[in-house]
Amino acid sequence: MIRFPTDVAAVAETTGELRAGGTDLMERRRSGRATGPVVDLRDLAGLDGIEVVAGGLRIGGTVRIAALAAHPGAPVGLAQAAGGLATPQIRAIATVGGNLAQRVRCWYFRNPQFSCLQSGGSSCLARDGDHLYHSCFDDRACVAPHPSSLACALLAYDATVDLGGAEGPVTVPTALAALLKGQLGGAPVLVRAVNVPAPLPGERAAYVRAIARARAEWPLVEVVARVVVVDGVVTAARVAVGGVAGHPLRREAVEAALIGGPADATRIAAAAARATDGAQPLPMTAYKLPLLVGSVQEALERAVGVS
Ligand SMILES: Cc1cc2nc3c(=O)[nH]c(=O)nc-3n(C[C@H](O)[C@H](O)[C@H](O)COP(=O)(O)OP(=O)(O)OC[C@H]3O[C@@H](n4cnc5c(N)ncnc54)[C@H](O)[C@@H]3O)c2cc1C
Repeated sequence: MIRFPTDVAAVAETTGELRAGGTDLMERRRSGRATGPVVDLRDLAGLDGIEVVAGGLRIGGTVRIAALAAHPGAPVGLAQAAGGLATPQIRAIATVGGNLAQRVRCWYFRNPQFSCLQSGGSSCLARDGDHLYHSCFDDRACVAPHPSSLACALLAYDATVDLGGAEGPVTVPTALAALLKGQLGGAPVLVRAVNVPAPLPGERAAYVRAIARARAEWPLVEVVARVVVVDGVVTAARVAVGGVAGHPLRREAVEAALIGGPADATRIAAAAARATDGAQPLPMTAYKLPLLVGSVQEALERAVGVS
Protein backbone atom coordinates (compact mmCIF):
# COMPACT_ATOMS: atom_id res chain seq x y z
CA MET A 1 0.00 0.00 0.00
CA ILE A 2 1.23 3.51 -0.80
CA ARG A 3 -0.13 6.63 0.90
CA PHE A 4 0.40 10.20 -0.30
CA PRO A 5 -0.10 12.53 2.70
CA THR A 6 -0.32 16.22 1.93
CA ASP A 7 0.64 17.69 5.30
CA VAL A 8 2.85 16.90 8.26
CA ALA A 9 -0.05 15.93 10.51
CA ALA A 10 -1.17 13.34 7.97
CA VAL A 11 2.34 11.88 7.85
CA ALA A 12 2.29 11.46 11.61
CA GLU A 13 -0.92 9.45 11.36
CA THR A 14 0.45 6.94 8.86
CA THR A 15 2.60 3.88 9.32
CA GLY A 16 5.13 2.67 6.80
CA GLU A 17 8.49 3.68 5.44
CA LEU A 18 8.78 7.23 4.13
CA ARG A 19 9.72 7.69 0.48
CA ALA A 20 11.14 10.97 -0.80
CA GLY A 21 13.42 10.67 -3.86
CA GLY A 22 13.35 6.91 -3.45
CA THR A 23 16.99 6.46 -4.47
CA ASP A 24 17.78 4.44 -1.36
CA LEU A 25 14.38 2.99 -0.49
CA MET A 26 13.54 1.66 -3.94
CA GLU A 27 16.84 -0.20 -4.16
CA ARG A 28 16.01 -1.91 -0.88
CA ARG A 29 12.48 -2.71 -2.04
CA ARG A 30 13.74 -4.14 -5.32
CA SER A 31 16.10 -6.46 -3.46
CA GLY A 32 13.40 -7.47 -0.98
CA ARG A 33 15.23 -5.95 1.98
CA ALA A 34 12.45 -3.39 2.50
CA THR A 35 8.83 -4.50 2.46
CA GLY A 36 5.55 -3.18 3.79
CA PRO A 37 3.60 0.03 3.25
CA VAL A 38 5.16 3.17 1.77
CA VAL A 39 4.38 6.76 2.76
CA ASP A 40 5.27 8.82 -0.29
CA LEU A 41 6.20 12.45 0.41
CA ARG A 42 5.75 13.80 -3.12
CA ASP A 43 2.50 15.63 -2.32
CA LEU A 44 3.67 16.89 1.05
CA ALA A 45 3.40 20.68 1.15
CA GLY A 46 5.71 23.17 2.77
CA LEU A 47 8.97 21.29 3.25
CA ASP A 48 10.57 21.92 -0.13
CA GLY A 49 11.93 25.43 0.35
CA ILE A 50 15.17 27.03 1.51
CA GLU A 51 14.79 30.19 3.59
CA VAL A 52 17.44 32.60 4.78
CA VAL A 53 16.90 33.02 8.54
CA ALA A 54 19.12 35.36 10.59
CA GLY A 55 21.93 34.97 8.07
CA GLY A 56 21.70 31.19 8.17
CA LEU A 57 19.51 28.75 6.30
CA ARG A 58 16.39 26.77 7.08
CA ILE A 59 16.37 23.89 4.60
CA GLY A 60 13.16 21.90 4.17
CA GLY A 61 13.34 18.13 4.51
CA THR A 62 12.17 17.49 0.95
CA VAL A 63 14.56 19.96 -0.70
CA ARG A 64 16.48 18.24 -3.51
CA ILE A 65 20.21 17.89 -2.96
CA ALA A 66 20.94 19.61 -6.30
CA ALA A 67 18.88 22.61 -5.18
CA LEU A 68 20.83 22.84 -1.93
CA ALA A 69 24.16 22.59 -3.78
CA ALA A 70 23.13 25.42 -6.10
CA HIS A 71 21.65 27.73 -3.47
CA PRO A 72 23.59 31.00 -3.31
CA GLY A 73 23.27 31.15 0.47
CA ALA A 74 24.60 27.64 1.12
CA PRO A 75 27.87 27.79 3.05
CA VAL A 76 30.85 26.52 1.07
CA GLY A 77 31.49 23.25 2.91
CA LEU A 78 27.81 22.26 2.77
CA ALA A 79 27.40 23.26 -0.89
CA GLN A 80 30.54 21.32 -1.86
CA ALA A 81 29.43 18.22 0.04
CA ALA A 82 25.96 18.38 -1.53
CA GLY A 83 27.37 19.03 -5.00
CA GLY A 84 29.99 16.28 -4.73
CA LEU A 85 27.93 13.34 -3.52
CA ALA A 86 26.56 10.51 -5.66
CA THR A 87 25.78 11.54 -9.27
CA PRO A 88 23.97 14.47 -10.93
CA GLN A 89 20.99 12.20 -11.61
CA ILE A 90 20.71 11.18 -7.96
CA ARG A 91 21.24 14.71 -6.68
CA ALA A 92 18.39 15.87 -8.93
CA ILE A 93 15.83 13.65 -7.17
CA ALA A 94 17.32 12.76 -3.78
CA THR A 95 16.34 14.92 -0.82
CA VAL A 96 17.96 16.32 2.30
CA GLY A 97 15.77 14.24 4.64
CA GLY A 98 16.33 11.08 2.63
CA ASN A 99 20.06 11.66 2.63
CA LEU A 100 20.21 11.97 6.41
CA ALA A 101 17.98 8.94 6.91
CA GLN A 102 19.45 6.64 4.24
CA ARG A 103 20.38 3.20 5.53
CA VAL A 104 23.93 1.87 5.76
CA ARG A 105 25.81 0.70 2.67
CA CYS A 106 26.82 -2.64 4.14
CA TRP A 107 26.59 -5.61 1.78
CA TYR A 108 25.35 -7.84 4.58
CA PHE A 109 22.53 -5.43 5.41
CA ARG A 110 21.64 -4.86 1.74
CA ASN A 111 21.38 -8.59 0.99
CA PRO A 112 18.02 -9.90 2.27
CA GLN A 113 19.49 -13.38 2.63
CA PHE A 114 21.56 -12.17 5.57
CA SER A 115 20.27 -11.15 8.95
CA CYS A 116 22.42 -8.62 10.78
CA LEU A 117 22.06 -6.05 13.55
CA GLN A 118 20.45 -3.60 11.13
CA SER A 119 17.88 -6.12 9.90
CA GLY A 120 16.77 -7.80 13.10
CA GLY A 121 19.65 -10.23 13.58
CA SER A 122 21.77 -10.64 16.68
CA SER A 123 25.28 -9.90 15.40
CA CYS A 124 27.20 -7.72 12.98
CA LEU A 125 28.25 -9.98 10.13
CA ALA A 126 30.72 -7.43 8.78
CA ARG A 127 32.67 -7.35 12.04
CA ASP A 128 33.86 -10.92 11.55
CA GLY A 129 33.46 -10.84 7.77
CA ASP A 130 34.27 -8.42 4.96
CA HIS A 131 34.42 -4.89 6.37
CA LEU A 132 36.82 -3.30 3.89
CA TYR A 133 34.76 -0.08 3.55
CA HIS A 134 33.65 0.07 7.16
CA SER A 135 34.57 2.00 10.31
CA CYS A 136 38.02 2.64 11.71
CA PHE A 137 36.54 4.10 14.91
CA ASP A 138 34.99 1.03 16.48
CA ASP A 139 32.23 2.98 18.19
CA ARG A 140 29.22 0.67 18.11
CA ALA A 141 28.21 -2.93 17.58
CA CYS A 142 27.37 -2.45 13.87
CA VAL A 143 30.61 -1.46 12.11
CA ALA A 144 29.06 0.11 8.99
CA PRO A 145 29.91 3.81 8.77
CA HIS A 146 27.24 6.46 8.58
CA PRO A 147 26.60 6.97 4.83
CA SER A 148 25.38 10.59 4.76
CA SER A 149 27.72 13.24 3.36
CA LEU A 150 25.22 15.93 4.36
CA ALA A 151 25.27 14.72 7.98
CA CYS A 152 29.04 15.20 8.03
CA ALA A 153 28.77 18.71 6.58
CA LEU A 154 25.88 19.69 8.84
CA LEU A 155 27.84 18.58 11.88
CA ALA A 156 30.68 20.89 10.83
CA TYR A 157 28.18 23.75 10.64
CA ASP A 158 26.60 23.07 14.06
CA ALA A 159 23.26 22.55 12.35
CA THR A 160 20.16 21.25 14.06
CA VAL A 161 17.35 19.11 12.68
CA ASP A 162 13.62 19.60 13.24
CA LEU A 163 11.99 16.21 13.50
CA GLY A 164 8.26 16.05 12.90
CA GLY A 165 5.75 14.44 15.15
CA ALA A 166 2.14 14.69 16.04
CA GLU A 167 3.12 16.90 18.96
CA GLY A 168 5.15 19.30 16.82
CA PRO A 169 8.77 19.64 15.80
CA VAL A 170 11.60 18.59 18.10
CA THR A 171 14.97 20.15 17.36
CA VAL A 172 17.99 17.93 17.90
CA PRO A 173 21.67 18.13 16.98
CA THR A 174 22.36 16.86 13.48
CA ALA A 175 24.56 13.98 14.59
CA LEU A 176 21.87 12.69 16.88
CA ALA A 177 19.18 12.94 14.24
CA ALA A 178 21.35 11.18 11.71
CA LEU A 179 22.16 8.46 14.16
CA LEU A 180 18.56 7.95 15.16
CA LYS A 181 17.13 8.12 11.69
CA GLY A 182 19.75 6.51 9.57
CA GLN A 183 21.07 3.79 11.72
CA LEU A 184 18.63 2.47 14.21
CA GLY A 185 15.90 1.76 11.72
CA GLY A 186 13.03 2.42 14.11
CA ALA A 187 9.65 3.92 13.35
CA PRO A 188 9.92 6.70 10.77
CA VAL A 189 10.11 10.21 12.12
CA LEU A 190 9.86 12.96 9.54
CA VAL A 191 12.87 15.22 9.00
CA ARG A 192 11.00 18.50 8.60
CA ALA A 193 13.91 20.88 8.22
CA VAL A 194 17.58 21.46 8.88
CA ASN A 195 18.70 24.74 10.47
CA VAL A 196 22.16 25.94 9.53
CA PRO A 197 23.47 28.90 11.55
CA ALA A 198 25.08 31.87 9.83
CA PRO A 199 28.74 31.32 8.91
CA LEU A 200 31.35 32.97 11.13
CA PRO A 201 32.61 36.34 9.90
CA GLY A 202 35.49 35.81 7.48
CA GLU A 203 35.37 32.03 7.61
CA ARG A 204 36.68 29.85 4.81
CA ALA A 205 35.79 26.22 4.25
CA ALA A 206 36.50 23.17 2.13
CA TYR A 207 35.10 19.67 1.55
CA VAL A 208 37.35 16.75 0.63
CA ARG A 209 36.35 13.18 -0.17
CA ALA A 210 38.63 10.19 -0.66
CA ILE A 211 36.85 7.78 -2.96
CA ALA A 212 37.64 4.30 -4.35
CA ARG A 213 36.63 5.24 -7.91
CA ALA A 214 36.23 8.48 -9.83
CA ARG A 215 32.53 9.06 -9.11
CA ALA A 216 29.21 7.49 -8.18
CA GLU A 217 30.47 6.00 -4.93
CA TRP A 218 30.28 6.73 -1.24
CA PRO A 219 33.56 8.12 0.05
CA LEU A 220 35.99 6.02 2.06
CA VAL A 221 36.66 9.14 4.10
CA GLU A 222 35.20 12.64 3.86
CA VAL A 223 36.03 15.89 5.62
CA VAL A 224 34.46 19.31 6.02
CA ALA A 225 36.83 21.93 7.46
CA ARG A 226 35.99 25.51 8.44
CA VAL A 227 38.56 28.02 9.61
CA VAL A 228 38.78 31.69 10.46
CA VAL A 229 42.22 33.27 10.10
CA VAL A 230 42.87 36.77 11.45
CA ASP A 231 46.27 38.38 10.82
CA GLY A 232 47.74 34.96 9.98
CA VAL A 233 46.48 33.31 13.17
CA VAL A 234 43.69 30.71 13.33
CA THR A 235 40.96 32.07 15.60
CA ALA A 236 38.28 29.42 14.98
CA ALA A 237 38.17 25.94 13.47
CA ARG A 238 35.62 23.19 12.93
CA VAL A 239 36.51 19.82 11.46
CA ALA A 240 33.97 17.03 10.88
CA VAL A 241 34.74 13.69 9.27
CA GLY A 242 32.58 10.94 7.78
CA GLY A 243 32.99 7.42 6.45
CA VAL A 244 34.96 6.34 9.49
CA ALA A 245 32.45 5.71 12.28
CA GLY A 246 28.82 4.91 12.99
CA HIS A 247 28.06 8.62 12.90
CA PRO A 248 29.96 11.68 11.67
CA LEU A 249 32.65 12.82 14.10
CA ARG A 250 33.87 16.25 15.14
CA ARG A 251 37.64 16.23 15.47
CA GLU A 252 38.10 18.57 18.43
CA ALA A 253 41.77 17.66 18.92
CA VAL A 254 42.52 18.87 15.39
CA GLU A 255 40.60 22.07 16.02
CA ALA A 256 42.40 22.72 19.33
CA ALA A 257 45.79 22.13 17.71
CA LEU A 258 45.03 24.81 15.13
CA ILE A 259 43.45 27.58 17.17
CA GLY A 260 45.82 30.28 18.40
CA GLY A 261 48.66 29.41 16.05
CA PRO A 262 49.82 30.38 12.58
CA ALA A 263 47.82 29.11 9.62
CA ASP A 264 50.83 27.53 7.94
CA ALA A 265 51.51 24.15 6.38
CA THR A 266 53.60 22.84 9.29
CA ARG A 267 50.98 23.57 11.91
CA ILE A 268 48.20 22.24 9.69
CA ALA A 269 50.10 18.96 9.19
CA ALA A 270 50.66 18.60 12.92
CA ALA A 271 47.00 19.33 13.65
CA ALA A 272 45.77 16.90 10.96
CA ALA A 273 47.80 14.12 12.58
CA ARG A 274 45.41 14.34 15.54
CA ALA A 275 42.46 13.32 13.30
CA THR A 276 42.92 9.67 14.21
CA ASP A 277 42.95 10.24 17.98
CA GLY A 278 40.83 7.48 19.51
CA ALA A 279 40.66 5.37 16.34
CA GLN A 280 40.37 1.60 16.74
CA PRO A 281 40.63 0.20 13.23
CA LEU A 282 39.23 -3.21 12.35
CA PRO A 283 41.57 -5.71 10.71
CA MET A 284 40.65 -4.46 7.20
CA THR A 285 40.22 -0.73 7.89
CA ALA A 286 43.65 0.41 9.14
CA TYR A 287 44.24 1.85 5.65
CA LYS A 288 41.68 4.55 6.48
CA LEU A 289 43.90 6.13 9.14
CA PRO A 290 46.51 7.71 6.83
CA LEU A 291 43.70 8.47 4.38
CA LEU A 292 41.88 10.38 7.11
CA VAL A 293 44.96 12.34 8.17
CA GLY A 294 45.75 13.21 4.54
CA SER A 295 42.16 14.23 3.79
CA VAL A 296 41.94 16.46 6.87
CA GLN A 297 45.26 18.06 5.95
CA GLU A 298 44.08 18.66 2.39
CA ALA A 299 40.77 20.14 3.52
CA LEU A 300 42.51 22.50 5.94
CA GLU A 301 45.09 23.55 3.37
CA ARG A 302 42.37 24.27 0.83
CA ALA A 303 40.32 26.20 3.36
CA VAL A 304 43.26 28.29 4.53
CA GLY A 305 44.72 28.66 1.06
CA VAL A 306 48.17 27.12 1.59
CA SER A 307 49.57 24.35 -0.60
C1 LIG B 1 25.93 5.42 -6.80
C2 LIG B 1 25.51 6.17 -5.57
C3 LIG B 1 26.44 6.96 -4.90
C4 LIG B 1 26.06 7.64 -3.74
N1 LIG B 1 26.98 8.41 -3.08
C5 LIG B 1 26.63 9.07 -1.95
C6 LIG B 1 27.55 9.90 -1.25
O1 LIG B 1 28.70 10.04 -1.63
N2 LIG B 1 27.11 10.51 -0.14
C7 LIG B 1 25.84 10.40 0.33
O2 LIG B 1 25.50 11.00 1.33
N3 LIG B 1 24.95 9.62 -0.32
C8 LIG B 1 25.31 8.97 -1.44
N4 LIG B 1 24.39 8.21 -2.09
C9 LIG B 1 23.09 8.00 -1.48
C10 LIG B 1 22.06 9.02 -1.91
O3 LIG B 1 22.53 10.30 -1.61
C11 LIG B 1 20.80 8.68 -1.13
O4 LIG B 1 20.26 7.52 -1.70
C12 LIG B 1 19.80 9.81 -1.18
O5 LIG B 1 20.32 10.97 -0.59
C13 LIG B 1 18.55 9.42 -0.44
O6 LIG B 1 17.60 10.46 -0.60
P1 LIG B 1 16.13 10.10 -1.13
O7 LIG B 1 15.34 11.34 -1.04
O8 LIG B 1 16.19 9.43 -2.46
O9 LIG B 1 15.71 9.06 0.00
P2 LIG B 1 14.68 7.84 -0.06
O10 LIG B 1 15.28 6.71 -0.80
O11 LIG B 1 13.35 8.31 -0.47
O12 LIG B 1 14.65 7.50 1.49
C14 LIG B 1 15.79 7.04 2.15
C15 LIG B 1 15.42 6.79 3.62
O13 LIG B 1 15.13 8.02 4.22
C16 LIG B 1 13.82 8.03 4.74
N5 LIG B 1 13.31 9.38 4.49
C17 LIG B 1 13.16 9.99 3.31
N6 LIG B 1 12.77 11.27 3.49
C18 LIG B 1 12.66 11.46 4.81
C19 LIG B 1 12.29 12.56 5.63
N7 LIG B 1 11.95 13.78 5.13
N8 LIG B 1 12.29 12.38 6.97
C20 LIG B 1 12.65 11.21 7.52
N9 LIG B 1 13.01 10.13 6.80
C21 LIG B 1 13.01 10.25 5.46
C22 LIG B 1 13.09 6.93 3.99
O14 LIG B 1 12.04 6.38 4.76
C23 LIG B 1 14.18 5.93 3.75
O15 LIG B 1 14.35 5.09 4.87
C24 LIG B 1 24.74 7.54 -3.26
C25 LIG B 1 23.81 6.76 -3.96
C26 LIG B 1 24.19 6.08 -5.08
C27 LIG B 1 23.17 5.22 -5.79
